[in-house]
Amino acid sequence: MTSTFPSERSRALAERVEAFVRSTVLAYERDARCGPHGPSDDLVRELRSRAREAGVLTPHILPDGSHLTQRETAVVLRASGLSPLGPVAVNTMAPDEGNMLLLGRIGTPLQKERFLAPLVRGEARSAFFMTEPAGQQGAGSDPSMLRTTATREGGRWRISGRKMFITGAQGATVGIVMARTGAPEAGRATLFLTELPHPAVRIERIVDTIDSAMPGGHAQVLIDDLLLSDEHVLGEVDEGFRHAQVRLAPARLSHCMRWLGAATRAQEIATGYATTRSGFGKLLVDHEGVGFMLADNAIELQQCALMIDWCAGVLDAGLPGTTESSMTKVAVSEALFRIADRCVQVMGGTGVARDTVVEQVFRETRAFRIYDGPSEVHRWALARKIKRDALALRA
Ligand SMILES: Cc1cc2nc3c(=O)[nH]c(=O)nc-3n(C[C@H](O)[C@H](O)[C@H](O)COP(=O)(O)OP(=O)(O)OC[C@H]3O[C@@H](n4cnc5c(N)ncnc54)[C@H](O)[C@@H]3O)c2cc1C
Repeated sequence: MTSTFPSERSRALAERVEAFVRSTVLAYERDARCGPHGPSDDLVRELRSRAREAGVLTPHILPDGSHLTQRETAVVLRASGLSPLGPVAVNTMAPDEGNMLLLGRIGTPLQKERFLAPLVRGEARSAFFMTEPAGQQGAGSDPSMLRTTATREGGRWRISGRKMFITGAQGATVGIVMARTGAPEAGRATLFLTELPHPAVRIERIVDTIDSAMPGGHAQVLIDDLLLSDEHVLGEVDEGFRHAQVRLAPARLSHCMRWLGAATRAQEIATGYATTRSGFGKLLVDHEGVGFMLADNAIELQQCALMIDWCAGVLDAGLPGTTESSMTKVAVSEALFRIADRCVQVMGGTGVARDTVVEQVFRETRAFRIYDGPSEVHRWALARKIKRDALALRA
C-alpha cells in the first residue's frame, strides 16, 4: 500500500520504528512470557532495552518533551502496531501513551518530574482508573454514575471505591484515579495521582478477557481509604471530567493508529497464505471469494488511514475533536474488526490457530469495539449532536 507521510521527520521515525518491529520484535511474538494477561514485565523490560539500544524508545515524544503532531504520531504509532508487542516495546502503548499526554498537558512541574519522567524513559507503567463494576451500578459508558468518592479530611483526601477493567494496574507504578468530589447530583469529579503499588489500592483479580496485548491485563481493584495530599491532585479539584477530555480524543485515536498497524500485518500474513496455498487447482487468491476479501481489506485499510489522518488534522488545528474522534473510533474499530475477520477466514484453520498473530489481531480488534467508548455510545452521542444542531438551525 502507498503511504504518505506528513513530514520528513515522521517518515524517518516511522521507518526506523517499522524496521525495529520487523527485525527485532516479531521474533518475540511466540515468547512464553506472552500470557493471557499480556506480556510479563520481564519481557517488557527486555523489549524496551532493545528499543532503547535501537534509538526508537518513546518515538512520539521529542527530547525537549514536546510531542509529534497527531498526524505525525499516526504514522509512527501505526508502524509500532505492526506487532501487538510493538507498542509495548517502543513505549507507545495504551494506557501509558494517553497518560503521558495528559500529565504533560496538565501536570505540575513536580508531578511531571515524579510521575511523567519515568514513563517517558520507559522505566515505569501507568494505569487510568475510571470504570467501575457494572454489578454495583458504577461508571461505565455513563461516567456520571461514578461511585468512587474523594472526601476532604484533615487537609488530605480520602478515596474509596471499586474500579474495573483497569488496564495495567498490576505492575504499574503510577495511577490516575477519577473520583467523585461532591454530591452525586453535582456531577463533579477530580483526578488524583497515586504511587503504585499502594497498600490501599488492592488488586482483587485480573479479569480473564478476550484480548492479551496489554501488560498487567485488566484488573478489578479495591481502593480502600487511600489518603492523598493536595500535591496528588492532577489539574483542578472538581474539573476531573473536563481534564479527562484532554486525554479522551487523542487516546481514542491512538488506539486506531496502533490497531491499524496490527490489521495491516494481518493482511500481509493472509496475503502470504492466499498467494502460496492452493486449492482446486489454483492459488487461493485466484478464487474470487478469497481475492475479493483481500481487496475489501485493502480498501478498508486505506479508508481507516485516511479517517485517522483527517481526525488527527482536526486535533492538530487545536480543536477538541470530540465528534470527529467519535466518528473515527466507530468507523475504524468496526472496519479493523471486519478486516481481521476476513484475514482469519482467508487462512482457514490456520486463521484461528495461535501460529500467527492473525488470531490475536481478531481478538484485540473485538475488544477495541468496547473500550474508549462502545460503538453504540458514540453513535448515540453523534445522534444527540445531530438533533441539537438541527434544532438550533430551526430556532
Ligand atoms: C479490554 C478493556 C480495557 C479497558 N481498560 C480500561 C482502563 O484502563 N480504565 C478504565 O477506566 N476502563 C477501562 N475499560 C472499561 C471500558 O472503558 C468500559 O468497558 C466501557 O466504557 C463500557 O462500559 P461498561 O463495560 O460498563 O458497559 P456498559 O456501560 O454496561 O454498556 C454495555 C453496552 O450497552 C450499550 N450502551 C450503553 N450506553 C448506551 C447508549 N447511550 N446508547 C446505546 N447503547 C448503549 C453498549 O452496547 C455497551 O457496550 C476497559 C475495557 C476493556 C474491555
